[in-house]
Amino acid sequence: MQSFPQSPVQGQMMSQPLSISSIIRFAARHYGGSEIVSRRVEADMPDLHRYTYRDCEARARRLAQALAERGVAIGERVGTLAWNGYRHLELYYAVSGSGAVLHTINPRLHPEQIAYIVNHAEDQVLFFDMTFLSLVEAIAPHCASVKAFVLMSDRAHMPAASTIPDLLCYEELVEAADGGYAWPLFDENAAASLCYTSGTTGNPKGALYSHRSTVLHAYASALPNVLNVGAIDTVLPVVPMFHVNAWGLPYSVLLSGAKMVFPGAALDGKSLYELFEQEGVTFSAGVPTVWLGLINYALQNDLRFSTFRRTVIGGSACPPAMMDTLIDKFNVQVIHGWGMTEMSPLGTTGGLLARHRKLPEPEQRKILQKQGHAIYGVDMKIVDDDGNELPWDGHSFGHLLVKGPWIIASYFRNEGGDVLQDGWFPTGDVATIDPDGFMQITDRSKDVIKSGGEWIGSIDLENIAVAHPGVLQAACIGMAHPKWDERPLLVVVRRPGAEVTREELLAFFDGKIARFWMPDDVVFVDSLPIGGTGKIQKNKLREQFRDYRLPGA
Ligand code: ADP
Repeated sequence: MQSFPQSPVQGQMMSQPLSISSIIRFAARHYGGSEIVSRRVEADMPDLHRYTYRDCEARARRLAQALAERGVAIGERVGTLAWNGYRHLELYYAVSGSGAVLHTINPRLHPEQIAYIVNHAEDQVLFFDMTFLSLVEAIAPHCASVKAFVLMSDRAHMPAASTIPDLLCYEELVEAADGGYAWPLFDENAAASLCYTSGTTGNPKGALYSHRSTVLHAYASALPNVLNVGAIDTVLPVVPMFHVNAWGLPYSVLLSGAKMVFPGAALDGKSLYELFEQEGVTFSAGVPTVWLGLINYALQNDLRFSTFRRTVIGGSACPPAMMDTLIDKFNVQVIHGWGMTEMSPLGTTGGLLARHRKLPEPEQRKILQKQGHAIYGVDMKIVDDDGNELPWDGHSFGHLLVKGPWIIASYFRNEGGDVLQDGWFPTGDVATIDPDGFMQITDRSKDVIKSGGEWIGSIDLENIAVAHPGVLQAACIGMAHPKWDERPLLVVVRRPGAEVTREELLAFFDGKIARFWMPDDVVFVDSLPIGGTGKIQKNKLREQFRDYRLPGA
């Protein structure tokens, strides 16, 4: 870790390590009555579980006690395979608060990959929701480090028989602890949680967050220019708690005192819509593919939201057409967010400056569509292939590099070796930055299409395609071309019932892009490959179209 010169004169302020347990302690003490509502995973129980921050802290503390009494030591990893729900939230605080490391695992990964991650992390205990019982039964024999498996339910719901040795019951663990446990203090640089990247290329790599980085990220993400969450809000994180800690919401919402609503496993448009309305959700966050489901359900049934007013959309580019629908049809403000697992994850958020209010609506929209401004704490720059910094003119695009206290310095177990370039983390994204500091992603470097030495931004092409009323989803990939090296191929999923043709779609691009950006062909498919975090997997798509030849190629 980098060290810095000491001043002979030190500030005379109290020294308190930034710790995750301080968030739940604060929440319980100062917003103790704020509610946490969760859609249950147990099907035969009342649909919703309700309690308060105060209850959550008491139970998390007992769970922390249970872990400590079972010998889970400071720094040891505890895995979870769970939906967004109150027990998962308790684990967020119990595990990190006890000094152990919370390792949230994406259950949508392939079982072999899950076992790989559990072994790589050397998880000592694995907690899981009922939904994942058979998955855990299948991987348990391959998880040598795991000393205890815990089903996140009560005694009545424990399976009569299971191949998992000595399966423990979550509620029994909580009940057995007497509550005579105080949150321990330790250095703020201690590891607190571990998330693996989804590993689109090679094996997944772990980002190991500290208490300090998590608390700073939570503080910063609650700022008005970022999430602007307050005690007046009701927040429903659609983004899963296994996807980069639900973008930090389990921390930032609790320190803000807002009401929290967890959707459990029911992420379809109808279930989400009903929960939004029933609980008066005002704020939410998720990837574009989830919004697609919710928006379509609301449009098809001619429904509007009575309380929902703001959402963060990120994880992949929010198509302008989706932003327009949310703002114009549903009166929901969209905050475009960009980040990555290696950044805890938030790096930038979209929004307007005061003087932008005078601009005509379409121009304001163009600014909102950018991935936005750096959040205080994050610095960024764009560089060319030789590492020379490029100007912030809104046109020059290059590799995006970042630095800041919640950005990784190296991967867990030093996987991949030295990742920093002169102290900056290379994001793998290609972007422009305008004179006002607004960043816009044009592509991921591995998805960039290079035609005759010039880059073609696949995100722009996709955004235009999904603005066509007949298009539900679109992805643009580079195909080999004898003359130009690569040319764009547009792969499209039509809206149900729509009959849009290749020619109509290509004509739709006319006048909106430079001539040489025009896709060479359009192919219609029934669905696109979607990964565990809800993003279109272009590597799979390229694989799928390996034998395809462009016209004239
Ligand atoms: P993985 O891609 O392995 O699932 P992450 O979930 O951390 O890992 O994804 C980070 C990447 O997602 C970023 O580097 C960027 O390419 C993409 N991304 C995230 N937010 C946006 C956004 N708003 N616009 C465009 N791309 C985004």
